[in-house]
Amino acid sequence: MAKPIIGMIPPGGWHYIDGDARINADSYSDLVRLVEHYRAENSLPVGDVEGDISAYICGNWPNFCHGVESVTVTSVNAPTQLSQLLDDIQVWAKNILQSGKPVNYVTDELAEQRARVCRSCPKNKNWQGGCSSCIATARRMTASVRQGRDTVSSAVLGGCLVQRHDNRAAIFLDRDEHVKAPGLPYDCWLNI
Ligand code: SF4
Repeated sequence: MAKPIIGMIPPGGWHYIDGDARINADSYSDLVRLVEHYRAENSLPVGDVEGDISAYICGNWPNFCHGVESVTVTSVNAPTQLSQLLDDIQVWAKNILQSGKPVNYVTDELAEQRARVCRSCPKNKNWQGGCSSCIATARRMTASVRQGRDTVSSAVLGGCLVQRHDNRAAIFLDRDEHVKAPGLPYDCWLNI
């Protein structure tokens, strides 16, 4: 896997774009720490910080990385992937809110169990980056879907790259409210 060369400062200095925020640092290790801190402070899924930073730096400046021939840019912060997930989440929430059907919810205990599974799942990705008015709209809609519910772990969840839903809201919905998408990880709570 490609990794930034620690002794070579990338163009613009050590930095990372997380959604619509630019995080600057004096060194690579500082950058990892600051991105982790930024995500925790903003209730965002911490995810794979080093992987995201490597994908960002090596995707933009491959000459500043080791093992660049194997670079695969998978960061959710690639604009197309992030904005597509945000769009899909809006459509998902809108369909539920406009269906006119009553929504069945699970208990907070079960929602918390599901949230813990999502937290450690690689398909859970932050969708809150880019267009700020789109994010505000999606936040409002997804909060309506979950009717303001939250558990200890749910507030830091992002969206699901497979189900294309907002995990923070989806964990509260009864199984009957979900249609399983192909390609779910084996240990996804939707398979239990
Ligand atoms: S695949 Fe399942 S466990 Fe993983 S993020 Fe999506 S809903 Fe959560």
